[in-house]
Formats: sequence, C-alpha cells, structure tokens
Amino acid sequence: MRRLFSGIQPSGELHIGNYLGAIRNWVKMLTDYDSIFCIVDYHAITASYETEIMQERIVNAAAECIACGLDPDKCTIFVQSHVPEHTELAWIFNTVTPMGDLRRMTQFKEKSEQHKQNVNVGLFDYPVLQAADILLYKAEAVPVGEDQVQHIEFSRRVARAFNSRYGETFPEPFHITPRIGRIMGLDGKSKMSKSLKNHISLSDSEETIKKKLATAVTDVNRKRRNDPGNPDICNIFTLHKLLSKNSEIEYVNVECRRAGIGCIECKMMLAANMNAELEPIRAKARDLKEHPQQVWEVLEAGRQRCKPIAAETIREVKTRMGLL
Ligand code: ADP
Repeated sequence: MRRLFSGIQPSGELHIGNYLGAIRNWVKMLTDYDSIFCIVDYHAITASYETEIMQERIVNAAAECIACGLDPDKCTIFVQSHVPEHTELAWIFNTVTPMGDLRRMTQFKEKSEQHKQNVNVGLFDYPVLQAADILLYKAEAVPVGEDQVQHIEFSRRVARAFNSRYGETFPEPFHITPRIGRIMGLDGKSKMSKSLKNHISLSDSEETIKKKLATAVTDVNRKRRNDPGNPDICNIFTLHKLLSKNSEIEYVNVECRRAGIGCIECKMMLAANMNAELEPIRAKARDLKEHPQQVWEVLEAGRQRCKPIAAETIREVKTRMGLL
C-alpha cells in the first residue's frame, strides 16, 4: 500500500474548516493508503501558547480526529514531538533549502502579519519541518486543505534537492485537495481559522452554531430581505453545498436568486444540517475527552509504529551524507 501522511495542529479545538477542508476526506482514504496522521505540536509552538494546557490540547485534537472517523484500527495517529527524528531531519533539510524559497511562502507572510509581536525563526522554517514530517515516512500522498498546497510543492523541491545532492532517497510527495478549495470564515473574507476567530468549532452546540451563523457574512450586495441574492458569491451557499441534501441546495440556489428565501431562513436550514453532521462527532469526542487514557494509548501505539520507520530513514540519510 502507498503511504499517506497528514498533520493537524493541536490548536485547542478543531473547526469545520479543518473538517470539511481536510479530515472528512482523510476518512475516505483510509482503505486505500497506509495512513499516518500526526498531531503537530512542534508546529503549534511557533505561535504563543499556554504551557499548562498543551497536553489537553493534544488529547482534544486526537479525540476529535478519532471522533471524525480516523479509526485507530485503520490508521496510525501519533504526536510529532514523541518522535524526535522529525526535528533531526528538519535540520538536515535546512542545509539543502535556499532562503529565498522560504521567503516566498504565503503562510509565513500571512502569519507574520497576524502575529507581528512573535515572528520567530520556527515560523519561518515551518515548511522545512513539514517536509521532514512527510519525508521521514517516505509518504507520497499528502491530503491537505487548499491553503497547504504551496508547502507540499515545497516538500517536493526539498526531496529533489536532497536526492540530487546525496542520491535517490525520497519519493516526491503529491498533495490531494478537495475540489471545493479553502473554507472561508464567517467574515466571508479570510480562510476559516481559529486564530482569526471566524470559525465554527466541531464542539460548538446547536445554539452556538445558530448564533454564529446568524452573524455570518452573505452576499454583501443583498441589503434587504426583498433584494435578490447571488449564491455564487455567498459563503453560506458554499457550506450548503458541503452539508445539505441536493434538493435543499437546489432550493436555496433558485429561491435566493429571486428573493424567495431570506438569509436568516437559509442560514437556519444550514444550521440544522451542520448540527446533524456534527452531533455524532461531538458525542464521540466528548466521550473520548472524558477518558483521556484511551486517547494516550492510541497515541503511544502510534509512536511505537512510527519510531522504527523514522529511525531507519535517519540511518539511511546519515549514511548517504557521510555522517555514519
Ligand atoms: P489551521 O490552519 O486552522 O491552523 P491546521 O494547520 O492544523 O489548521 O490544518 C489542519 C488541516 O486543515 C490542514 O490540512 C489544512 O489545510 C486544513 N485547513 C485548515 N483550515 C482550513 C480552511 N479554512 N479551509 C480548508 N482547509 C483548511
């Protein structure tokens, strides 16, 4: 089986951008690939955080991934910092990476704008660690949200640079992204992200989902209830396409354009469908969070599976580089 790798940050609570843009697709791929999923805590520490709650955030991220359908019997889930070879390979990759490549990364530019008070070297070097995460396991398929495509293309260049300097060692990974593109936030302007507080969490209650959707930006040209709207530029309609039945999508598409349905009614239809999709995930995640030991056992089994693969890659890399 070909190997698949993807990572998710333990950023407190996962949101529907993570779910609809990434995790829901990962679940569909479990039977086709040897799948490895990583809770990337070393990536998460590139932003300011509270040390006391990091362990809880790791457990929550893992619990929510499992609740979304990443069945530990069908895939491997582990914590990045539990396998130190990730940072070892990242250092080695630093030495085949031109500075200019990293300067071009959109995510670095965006994040350094958002967190001007903490633009650290780790944030700049983030894509190198990400390349190491993937290539340590010689993974080929990397399913990610559309926002990560540039980083996966960068990982291909790293593999190529290493191979051409030290001999054929790594496959060139390819990204798999959902057709829908990136999930926009409730502001309708930026990608949905926890740090921008424009998100709906997987753990949000039905009431919270309704309240958040009620404030969400729709077609900005539709000022009054009786104005016809344009679903093509409405983020709520995009979410309908991901969460509602075909008949409802068609209904909204037609009725919005002739002002037959108002934004509130349209949003409440979406809220009901979103809640129906999230309710079983919430229940399973709640149960796992109440039994964190079960989650740690899954993560330890994942570490035990990953460690020997990682050690073998590092041995091969060091041998090729004349370091062993
Ligand atoms: P975040 O970007 O919120 O910090 P992560 O970096 O942990 O989240 O991303 C985990 C996965 O979710 C990645 O594959 C990423 O591409 C995807 N993802 C995150 N936000 C979005 C979004 N708004 N739309 C689509 N995919 C997303």
